[in-house]
Amino acid sequence: MTTTNPVVDAARVELLLHELRLPSIRLMWAKLAEQSDKEGWPAARFLAVLAEHEMADRGRRRFERHLLEARLPAGKTLATFEFEAVPMVSKAQVMALASGDAWLKKGANILLFGPPGGGKSHLSAALGLTLVENGWRVLFARTTDLVQQLQVARRELALESAIAKLDCYDLLILDDIAYVTKDQAETSVLFELIAARYEQWGKIFPDQAMTLAAIDRLVHHSTILEMNVESYRRREALDRKRGRGRPPTHATINKTENAEN
Ligand code: ADP
Ligand code: MG
Repeated sequence: MTTTNPVVDAARVELLLHELRLPSIRLMWAKLAEQSDKEGWPAARFLAVLAEHEMADRGRRRFERHLLEARLPAGKTLATFEFEAVPMVSKAQVMALASGDAWLKKGANILLFGPPGGGKSHLSAALGLTLVENGWRVLFARTTDLVQQLQVARRELALESAIAKLDCYDLLILDDIAYVTKDQAETSVLFELIAARYEQWGKIFPDQAMTLAAIDRLVHHSTILEMNVESYRRREALDRKRGRGRPPTHATINKTENAEN
């Protein structure tokens, strides 16, 4: 600190940086000023380095915040997803969905169908993670949990604001939507959520009973990924038993049943 200009009140600078919400600059300015003085940097360079650091840290902090709020299940990434296990799903298409924002911008949907264990949660979480990395805001929720929250909100006459709060997310991942019981109250909060995200529906279908029409629209705006394979874990276990000791690379396409979930 010896070379710092004595007329600069460091405590005052810290206070100002705090007020201006520049935590990274606040943390590093004194040290950098010392280096800058020692090495005779032009003032503009000193300022540029500080600004670049604040910007980069801000991006990192935003990513961390978005990752936390997304509530994605841990460890489900595109890198760890074995596309060979679901040959009916095009890796190129998934990669395009992960990097492309056109479908998100136009409010389109992705529907994943398949029996339990086929990788629907993994693949949707992995897509969500990639989108968060690209700056989008995502929420991963078990649909039954979300429905329960919305029902509580409705009882407290706060359904509208609860749904409005979900507006901040560019993408809602409604995991296990098929497990929502066909109970009137449950489906109606879900309908209101879906309708709110397509506010134009409100004008087209003012009657809430037209759930079928809504679902029809949902499918109409969707990319459908059929994941009609036998449980990944089960196949993995079978492979281990056979002494191959590696994850399955071939899907068993289940033709007997057209899974609904
Ligand atoms: P679903 O949601 O369709 O019931 P999950 O995504 O929960 O299935 O998959 C069950 C388990 O198997 C998870 O631990 C998941 O990570 C793993 N898994 C499923 N499919 C794959 C795959 N193709 N590659 C790697 N892991 C997979
Ligand atoms: Mg699942």
